[in-house]
Amino acid sequence: MATTEFEAVPAVESAPRTPGVVVMKFGGSSVADTDKLKRVAQRLVAAREEGSKVVGVLSAMGDTTDELIRLAYEVSPRPHPREYDMLISTGERISNALCAMAIHDLGHEAVSLTGSQAGIVTDTTHTKAKIVEVRAQRIHEALDEDRIVLVAGFQGVSPTTRDVTTLGRGGSDTTAVALAAALGASCEIFTDVAGVFTADPRLVPEALKLDYVTYEEMLEMSACGARVMALRSIEVARRYGVKLRVRSTFGEGDGTWIGEEDETMLEKAIISGVTHDTSEAKVVILGVPDRPGIAARVFRALATAGVNIDMIVQNVSEQGTTSISFTMPKTDLPTAEPILEETAREIGATGIQRDPDIAKVSLIGAGMKSHPGVAADMFDALAEAGINIEIISTSSIRVSCVIRASEVERAVQAVHERFRTFAEERVNA
Ligand code: ADP
Ligand code: ASP
Ligand code: MG
Repeated sequence: MATTEFEAVPAVESAPRTPGVVVMKFGGSSVADTDKLKRVAQRLVAAREEGSKVVGVLSAMGDTTDELIRLAYEVSPRPHPREYDMLISTGERISNALCAMAIHDLGHEAVSLTGSQAGIVTDTTHTKAKIVEVRAQRIHEALDEDRIVLVAGFQGVSPTTRDVTTLGRGGSDTTAVALAAALGASCEIFTDVAGVFTADPRLVPEALKLDYVTYEEMLEMSACGARVMALRSIEVARRYGVKLRVRSTFGEGDGTWIGEEDETMLEKAIISGVTHDTSEAKVVILGVPDRPGIAARVFRALATAGVNIDMIVQNVSEQGTTSISFTMPKTDLPTAEPILEETAREIGATGIQRDPDIAKVSLIGAGMKSHPGVAADMFDALAEAGINIEIISTSSIRVSCVIRASEVERAVQAVHERFRTFAEERVNA
């Protein structure tokens, strides 16, 4: 059985120097225009006036990051990674600086900081850098001076190259959680939905809001496409025990708490949700000679280039050759393709197929391990909807199926419907 591997986490100062800090993160749609930014400013000021020391982490306004990426590709088919990060990190500087201005006008002191100024230290991997350390000195000083501190999400600096790096899509979540860990703060994630749901509420209007999910469940959900929280942010939260809450920017409501496993609810945790992911492509290497060492060679070459491989299937060999299928992020295809071509030539494979029109649908639940038949029920639900499964993979708390991208909406709805009673039990537990 495959298990999802989660990675090492950043070093942070363990002793909080400034007590009573709250980190409040607002996503792109929460700051989509200047009126919304002013409302966020009011919310930060209100938290300050209630007595908290406030650190805001804002994403870029609306679709700014997509727009910047579009510009990069308009100029160059393979944008230089350093310049690409210089460019796409600017979106967050705009929103945070504007919000600081709005806070000044509300009669409070505020200072906006880039990731680098805020002490977010990363490795050197452009476009998907990992935070390795948080040097929170400057933030502590600003909080001591009674300022509201705004930190540009999604970015940091590599001390080796002194260059700006970005943390991967959705990376402002990681900025917020890493800062909360470093500051010993609580962490509130404000977004455009009321919390974490049993499926993406945009695809499944009947999806139910969860009051509580464990780090393990949320890790699995994020790894399988529930983009409401970035995967890496949950890794950091789990390592440092940062208690998180996901809630709506636009309404009240308690949202969803993410934290440690609670024994009493484990029994009810048969499923926590159905997720989907359309960001991956399927690659098939055809006519691979069936001898020891071949798979190692293919996947080592891709790993060295930083390409994350997900589901891998090797077929039964016929007349000494086999085929290997796997999934990987579409955004890594430009990096992977030349490597695959070369490796295929070296090992004597007959060809490579790439298929970007796939989706992965996953069913996740911590209680699944003690409930045989969950996987069979999921396959049943897909079969009844007439949906063909191309690849299957499982872990102790997840079952994932690769299907055609065009069928993703129906698939998520069918699987959610099949497990609806479990979801209801879970929510009402
Ligand atoms: P933000 O800009 O606030 O970071 P995102 O777009 O990154 O917001 O994440 C919120 C979106 O995640 C929601 O609008 C929703 O469509 C999507 N989503 C996917 N799966 C889930 C889920 N299980 N629960 C809640 N939202 C989900
Ligand atoms: N603006 C970045 C993105 O769109 C980071 C974030 O929103 O968290 O991916
Ligand atoms: Mg997000």
